[in-house]
Amino acid sequence: MEDLQQKAINYLPGIGPARAKMLEAELGIKTWHDLLYTFPYKHIDRSRLYKIRELTTEMPFVQVLGQFLSFEEAGQGRKHRLTGHFWDGEMFLDVTWFHGIKYIKQSVKTRKDYILFGRPGVYGGRLSVIHPDLDKPESMTLSKMSMQPYYSTTERMKKAGMTSRSLENFTSSLFTKLTWTLPETLPQYLIERLHLMPLDKALRAAHYPTTADELAAANMRLKFEELFFIQLVIMSYARKRQQERVGRRFARVGNAFNTFYHKYLPFPLTEAQKRVIREMHADMKSGHQMNRLLQGDVGSGKTLVALMVMLIAIDNGCQACIMAPTEILAEQHLQTFRNFLKDMPIRVELLTGTIKGKKRTAIEEGLQDGSIHILIGTHAVIEDNVQFNNLGLVIIDEQHRFGVAQRARLWQKSEVCPHVLVMTATPIPRTLAMTVYGDLDVSIIDELPPGRKPVRTIHIYDNQPEQLYQGVVREIGAGHQVYFVFPLVKESEKLDLKNVQDEFVHLKEVFPQYKISMVHGKMKPSEKDAEMQKFVSGETQILVATTVIEVGVNVPNASVMIIQNAERFGLSQLHQLRGRVGRGAEQSYCILVSNFKLSAETRKRLHIMTETNDGFEIAEADLKLRGPGDLEGTQQSGIAFNLRLANLGRDGQLVQLARDTAAYVLDADPELQTGDNILLRRHLQELKKEHRDWSQIS
Ligand code: ADP
Ligand code: MG
Repeated sequence: MEDLQQKAINYLPGIGPARAKMLEAELGIKTWHDLLYTFPYKHIDRSRLYKIRELTTEMPFVQVLGQFLSFEEAGQGRKHRLTGHFWDGEMFLDVTWFHGIKYIKQSVKTRKDYILFGRPGVYGGRLSVIHPDLDKPESMTLSKMSMQPYYSTTERMKKAGMTSRSLENFTSSLFTKLTWTLPETLPQYLIERLHLMPLDKALRAAHYPTTADELAAANMRLKFEELFFIQLVIMSYARKRQQERVGRRFARVGNAFNTFYHKYLPFPLTEAQKRVIREMHADMKSGHQMNRLLQGDVGSGKTLVALMVMLIAIDNGCQACIMAPTEILAEQHLQTFRNFLKDMPIRVELLTGTIKGKKRTAIEEGLQDGSIHILIGTHAVIEDNVQFNNLGLVIIDEQHRFGVAQRARLWQKSEVCPHVLVMTATPIPRTLAMTVYGDLDVSIIDELPPGRKPVRTIHIYDNQPEQLYQGVVREIGAGHQVYFVFPLVKESEKLDLKNVQDEFVHLKEVFPQYKISMVHGKMKPSEKDAEMQKFVSGETQILVATTVIEVGVNVPNASVMIIQNAERFGLSQLHQLRGRVGRGAEQSYCILVSNFKLSAETRKRLHIMTETNDGFEIAEADLKLRGPGDLEGTQQSGIAFNLRLANLGRDGQLVQLARDTAAYVLDADPELQTGDNILLRRHLQELKKEHRDWSQIS
C-alpha cells in the first residue's frame, strides 16, 4: 500500500510531463489521490444498443450501431450544417453538425460501423441527433459498454486534445494500479449503523459503477463523508468554544420582564415568539455564552422578542445593546422600545454618529455608570471606544450587514463574554444555516402575528405604465404611500445613479401633484437619512430608491412596492423588498415590473414571488435555482467548503444526517480517542491542515 497523496500523477501510464502540467494547471490534479477524487459529473448507460425505430424524443442519451451512407452540406453562415444519413440496417436517422464540420468530413467515413451516441430530438421536422459522440465498435472495451463516466474538462484541455475520454483512460489505468484495498476513513460502527458502502468500493464505483443503483450508493457514501467531516469540524469547534466560554448566568426572570409581560405587552405573543424566547432563556441561564441566530420572516415580530430578551438581561443586573445597520433603523428601534416600555423605569438611549458633544458625553457616562439599561446604536458607533458598566447581551439586527469579524470584536466589550443574539430576516434554508452558521444555534419564528393581510404580488410587463400609474394615484388618494425601486447596475455606478435620477425626474412629471423623495447609494448617510425621514414622516408620498431601502425600514402607511426591472433581482432580494409593505392593516401590493423577454429561470423566479409569501419557501427555491455559492452568507462566512459531490441545496437530508451523526459521535467520545474514532481524529487533523479557513468558523 502506498500513500496516494505522495504519488505524482506522471507515474501513471499515458501521462507525460506536458499532460501532467495541464492536469495540474486546469483541474488541480497533482497526485493519484487528486485523480481518484476527481469524480465524473455524470454517467451514461451504454450497456444497451437501440434500434432507430425504438427512438423517441423523450429518451435521454442512447446509442445506436450503424453506418453513414451519405453526407450532405447545406445552409450558410450560422445555418451552415452537415447532415449524415445513418442507417442501422432497418431505418435511417438524420445526424446533424453545426460546427466542426471540416473535422467530421475528414474523419468520419461512410460504410463503416459506428456506435452513435446522443440524445434523440427533432430537427427540421425529422427525428435526428445533433452532435453525437461516435465510436468505432472495436474501440469499445467491455467496461465502456456499461456505465460510462463523463469528466469535466476545460477549454484549454479540449484544445490540447484532452477530453473526457482521456480522463477516462487515466482513471481506468489508475484503478488497474490500485490493486490493494484503499484504507477506510470512517469507523466500522458508523458504516454498519448507516449501511454505508465501504470507501474502497465507493471510490471505484463512483467512477466505474456496474449499475445505477451501485452508483447511487457510492455517491451517497462519498457525499455523506464530505458533509459529515464538515459537521464534525464545526461541532467540535463549537463544543470547545461552549466549554471554554463561560457565560453570565441569567437565572432569574424578574421584575422588568414580568411587569412588561403582564402590564404593558400590547398583544399576546405568538406561539413562535414564546418558543424562541424560551430557547434563548435556556441558553442564558446555562452558564455558557449564548450564540444564537434568530431567523424570522419580515414582520414576524423579532423586535419585540429582542426587547423581552433584553429585559431578562436587565433583571440579572446587566446592560443590553442592540445594533442596527442604519441610523434610521436605530431611531426606529428607539421609538419602538420607548413606546413599548411606556413609564417603566428603564433607561433606553440611542447612540449614532450624528450624536456629538455634550449629549454624547452624557450617554457615554450613563453607559459607564450603568444607569443606561439599553443602548441602541449603529454598529460603527458601538465598535468605537464605547465602554459599558456591565454589558450582558448584544443583539445584532439584520445580521447580513455584519461580518464575522465585526461580530468577534464584540467579545472584547466585556470581561465575561456577553450573550450574543443575531437576528436576520433573510431566511436561510436550514441545511445552509447548519453549515454556514454551524457554530450558532438557530431559533426560528415561523409564524406571523395574526390578522396580517398577505401582500398581493402581481407581475406585469413594462410596456403599459399608464395602468400602473393609475393604481399609484388610487393608492395615494386613499392616503397611502408608494415605493419605486430600481436595481443596482453592477457594471456602472454612474449609470445606476442616472437611472434613479432620470426616474425621479420622470415621476415628478407624471405625478406633479405629489411630493417625492429619492435615496440612492451615492448619497451621504446623513442626506439619505434626511430623505428617508421625509418619507417615514409622511411628508412625501413616493420614495424612489435603489436597493438601499432593502433592510428593515418600517413605514406601515406604505402599501405599494413597485419593483422596476424585477428580472434583475434575486429571489431573496425581491422578498426583502416586498417585506417593506404589508406592515399596516390595509391590503398591500407588490408590483413586479419586468421586461418582456425573460429567460425560463427568471420567469420561474417571478412566478414563485406571485405564488408565495413564505420566506423559507422562497429561500429553498432560491437555493435550488442558484445553488448555495451565490447565497448571501456563504461568501461572507469566509468558509470555502470544498464540496466535490455534495450540494447544500439538493442534499438537505444528508446534511441533517451528517449533523446528527456528528453529534452522536461527539456525545459518546468528545475527544475522538476511543477505538475506531481515532480514524476520525486523524482525518480531522488532516482536514484542518488542508482547510485553514475552517478555524474561522469558531
Ligand atoms: P421584524 O421581525 O420584521 O423585525 P417587527 O418586530 O418589526 O418585525 O414586527 C412587525 C410588527 O408586528 C410590529 O408593528 C410589531 O409591533 C407587531 N407585532 C410583533 N409581535 C406581535 C404579536 N405577537 N401580535 C401582533 N403584532 C405583533
Ligand atoms: Mg426588524
